[in-house]
Amino acid sequence: MQNEIEVLQMTDMQHDLSLKEFNTFGIDARAALFARPENLEQLTLLLEEYDHRQLPFLIIGEGSNILFKSDFEGLVVNPGMKGIELMEDNGQQVLIRVGAGENWDNWVQHATEQGWFGLENLSLIPGSVGSAPIQNIGAYGVEMKDRFAWLDAWDLQQKQSVRLQKEECSFRYRSSIFKTEARGRYIITHVAFRLNRAPDLKLGYGPVKEAFSLAGGSTPLDLRNVIISIRNQKLPDPDTHGNAGSFFKNPLVDMTIFKCIRVDYPDIPNYPDSENRAKIPAAWLIEKAGWKGKRMGNVGTWPSQPLVIVNYGGATGQEIFDFSEQIRNDVDRKFSVYLEREVNVV
Ligand SMILES: Cc1cc2nc3c(=O)[nH]c(=O)nc-3n(C[C@H](O)[C@H](O)[C@H](O)COP(=O)(O)OP(=O)(O)OC[C@H]3O[C@@H](n4cnc5c(N)ncnc54)[C@H](O)[C@@H]3O)c2cc1C
Repeated sequence: MQNEIEVLQMTDMQHDLSLKEFNTFGIDARAALFARPENLEQLTLLLEEYDHRQLPFLIIGEGSNILFKSDFEGLVVNPGMKGIELMEDNGQQVLIRVGAGENWDNWVQHATEQGWFGLENLSLIPGSVGSAPIQNIGAYGVEMKDRFAWLDAWDLQQKQSVRLQKEECSFRYRSSIFKTEARGRYIITHVAFRLNRAPDLKLGYGPVKEAFSLAGGSTPLDLRNVIISIRNQKLPDPDTHGNAGSFFKNPLVDMTIFKCIRVDYPDIPNYPDSENRAKIPAAWLIEKAGWKGKRMGNVGTWPSQPLVIVNYGGATGQEIFDFSEQIRNDVDRKFSVYLEREVNVV
């Protein structure tokens, strides 16, 4: 079939490919088919040929927020659109459109070096630009939505390219329509950001201000370097210890439950929420449930950050999943708080 050969060549289609290099847990799951379309034309050709409704279908960026429990008997699509395009510049703000296949941290570095400011706190978050809106990535007091303008995506329902504005994406804490009501509907191809020409340093979160002043920092590039150094000290490097960052979200807990926990733990850390709930650090709950630094076989929690589950080498996706479920059950039993996963389980 001529079209199939064309698709195979254009999108670098591969059969029975190991995904080990495509997920930061380092799980050796296999994809029946794997393709990397590099532009919209290749993507549409691919979708025409392998209609997504006939085959199980998965989009993958750099696999830093995915846990494969088993092989994937379908088509894995890895959007490879590249490019950083200056769309508008009014002297105070710039609007930049970035390809989904660009690496997130390379983009943040490029933006900071160009004098396009506002993303410094999100430095060193693993993954691709196209995945950043999915869970509205956030760190150190900044979320992607704060700098987001719009995105371009292929709508698998309408079979056409669409532009979604910020209000349409329902960005929330580690969530968006792409993780909820529109899960699996869109393939994000480009994301546009509105950034400032003048530095706009966000130093209000936890240890950032102190580390910034200790380092004698004054510029956005200094802030980026401070964030990188904090992250390097705190989080395991997926190249040496397979992991996907925070495995669970910080839960928003009803005040009644919160007050019950506080009876036994008067020092419980929490952040009040507008809807009369309290956000409790999941790491604290996991630690108090006895899971800090705990290891079972090849899987464990990271000693200095129990929210991160680590593949110490050779663990299967199922082992990691089972370990995470034990944590979840223990926290639920002890505190009546059900932890929601941040990681996408496939
Ligand atoms: C060490 C470490 C630290 C981390 N720290 C943070 C942190 O501080 N803050 C934070 O928010 N996250 C953090 N994460 C999680 C992760 O970096 C982000 O979720 C990141 O956005 C995932 O990007 P990815 O390309 O690897 O996505 P993947 O894991 O490949 O995919 C994630 C989800 O997005 C979907 N998806 C991917 N690309 C597209 C696309 N183009 N169109 C539609 N759907 C798509 C996938 O189907 C999947 O559901 C961390 C992870 C690690 C390993």
